[in-house]
Formats: sequence, C-alpha cells, structure tokens
Amino acid sequence: MQPFLDRPLERLRKVGVRVGDVVVGGGAPVVVQSMTNTDTADVDGTVAQVAALHRAGSEMVRITVDRDESAAAVPHIRDRLARLGVNVPLIGDFHYIGHKLLADHPDCAAALAKYRINPGNVGFKDKRDKQFAEIIELAIRHDKPVRIGVNWGSLDQDLLTRLMDENQKAGSPLTAVEVMREAIVQSALISAELAEEIGLPRDRIILSAKVSQVQDLIAVYVELAKRSDHALHLGLTEAGMGTKGVVASSAAMGILLQQGIGDTIRISLTPEPGGDRTREVQVAQELLQTMGFRQFVPIVAACPGCGRTTSTVFQELAATIQDDLRRNMPVWREKYPGVEELKVAVMGCIVNGPGESKHADIGISLPGTGETPAAPVFIDGEKAMTLRGPAIADDFQKLLADYIER
Ligand code: SF4
Repeated sequence: MQPFLDRPLERLRKVGVRVGDVVVGGGAPVVVQSMTNTDTADVDGTVAQVAALHRAGSEMVRITVDRDESAAAVPHIRDRLARLGVNVPLIGDFHYIGHKLLADHPDCAAALAKYRINPGNVGFKDKRDKQFAEIIELAIRHDKPVRIGVNWGSLDQDLLTRLMDENQKAGSPLTAVEVMREAIVQSALISAELAEEIGLPRDRIILSAKVSQVQDLIAVYVELAKRSDHALHLGLTEAGMGTKGVVASSAAMGILLQQGIGDTIRISLTPEPGGDRTREVQVAQELLQTMGFRQFVPIVAACPGCGRTTSTVFQELAATIQDDLRRNMPVWREKYPGVEELKVAVMGCIVNGPGESKHADIGISLPGTGETPAAPVFIDGEKAMTLRGPAIADDFQKLLADYIER
C-alpha cells in the first residue's frame, strides 16, 4: 500500500530558470502566472489588464504576440508599465510566425522576459524545424528563456502518427490514449533536446505539456518529471468556466504539486462574459496557499452557516474582510511584514465560534438564532471583549485594522 502523503513531497529539483527578476524551478517557490485576453496591439487595454493581474498577485504575465501590430506594441507596454511601477516579467505567446515577428521587431524581442513557443505550430510541416531553430537562435541572441509549450490541441501530428504506427507494429501494447500521452511527452522532450543542440542553455528552458483532461495531465507530467530535469510550467488547458474549471485545475495540479511536480502554475479559466480576469490569479494563489506551499493573504476561516444563522451578517462580514484583505495586500505586505500569516475567524454562532476564534489571531463569534445579541471577540487566543448593538460588523473591522497596525 502507498504511504499516505500527509504533506507535500519535497519539490523535485529542477534546473532554475530566471525570467526577468523571477526564478522558476531550482528550488524556488512555485510561481503564479496568468495571461491577458486583450488585443496586445491595444496598449492602453493591455497595460491596464497586466497591471490588474500583477496587483492581484500574478508574478509573470503572458501576452499574445500574433501580428506586427502587437509585436510593435510590446516595448510601449513594457515602458508604460515601468512608469506605473509595475515591474512584472512579460512573456510573449507566439504561434506560427513567432520567428518572423521576433526577427522583424528586435525591440519586442528585447522587451519580453521570455518567449513561449508551441512546437506543434512553430511552422508548417517542412519548415517547422527551421523556424523552431530561428526562434531559439533569437532567444540566444537576446539572452531570453523559452517555454516550450506543447498543447494536445495542436500536437505535432507527424510524431503522433509515427508513434501510432510503431505501437500498431508492436501489437498495440499501448491504448490510443497512452500513445497520445507519450506523443505529448516526446514532443516536449525532443524539442528541448533540439533547443539545447542549437545552443540554448538548459537554464533557459521551461517545459509544459497541457491537456484538458485531469487524468491525462497527471499522467503526462509525472512522466515528464521522471524523464527530464527541466523546470515545469503546470496548467490544465481549456479547464472551462466557473466551478468546473476551478475544480478540474485544482484537482489535477494539487495532485502534481503534492508529488513535488510543477515550478510555476497558471489556472486557465474561461471568464464569464465581462468577468474578472484576475480570478485565475486568486484561484492559483488559493490553491498554493491551502496546500501549504505559499502564503499570499491572511486566511479568513468562516463556518458554512446553518439553520442557527438566519441572518446573512456573518457571511457578509467574512466576505467583506476577505475582499478588504486581498485588496490591501500589495500595500500591507510592504508596510506590515508578515501580515499574510494572519488568521481571522468569522463564525456564525457559539457552537464552533469561540473554539475556532481562539485558534485564530483575531476572531469573532456572531450571535446565532435565539442567542443573546452579543458577539465575543477573541484576540491571540483570549476573549478580549464582547461587541453588541447594530454596528457589530463595523466595530469588528475596526478592531481588525487596529490589530494589523499593531
Ligand atoms: Fe452553524 Fe454555528 Fe456551526 Fe456556523 S458555527 S455552521 S452557525 S452551528
């Protein structure tokens, strides 16, 4: 029987890769990244979204570079962000004509902190190797790292066909799904080998192999981690909308991270129309935080509520506090070092309220149905006071602000 993993395994030691000022792999903490969905040629819109993603906690941001206009916009985006004090590494996402865009726009090539290329579509069939080599040579010239990002939706069909033929000749020991997984792994490894042969150092290469099914992702990355020491970018592609995307990404990446696999993550959520793009950053942070890898924002423990809570005061208070903490973190992190370690409890009644509040740095147990309208507040494990009256929520927020300042 497999031993039960009661804590994450040590991170598998992968080669560290510097992306701007951020290190991926080599024992560094798992890095959160995200991607814009603006037209990169729209400098204002892209600057605003990159800044919002960075403020939310994204430590690297990927932008689409799909045509001359977007490549020409990249240096302006980088400069505008710098003037706003947003120094986040920008990653250029290239498909089909990356070699041409990087060659024709040297300012773009210099402004980006990393290039992401897809070996399945760096060029059309007969030109693929040549164009792949051109991008790698440009990366070497500009001293940039490259993420070789295989995606099952644009997998190298020649490689897949060859592996299927070989499997058939050998009597089909592998299922079709297993052959597909092997093709994804091989596509990443062969491309990395090729990049190294061209001269890109090992500490300039990150690999990813994205698929859309949880079990496929786990199988592919376990294999990739076993067969290479390249830093790994984790992500479930086309994870989907709403809770489906959050659950699928968390399940897949949680299992891999627990096994020490993954040096940077992106949660690819399909945003609701007009939805907030920063949600993917929040989910990534919460995944790493709940698993104990990193601490980004104070934890707000709140009970789920039940028939003993007929008012929504405690849910509203818990949500307000969580939102306030998250919004203020960029400033507070600098002003109050260690604030992200704070634990706050907002509980619905006396059943679990006092107990949970005592375990927090500061906690409140709001009155449930039939209880005296009084809310005991616990600070550092001791009952500090009892709040009463209609302004309990506001009073507790003031106490919390005072506590953080102290
Ligand atoms: Fe219900 Fe009270 Fe438990 Fe909250 S603490 S879930 S209100 S019994």
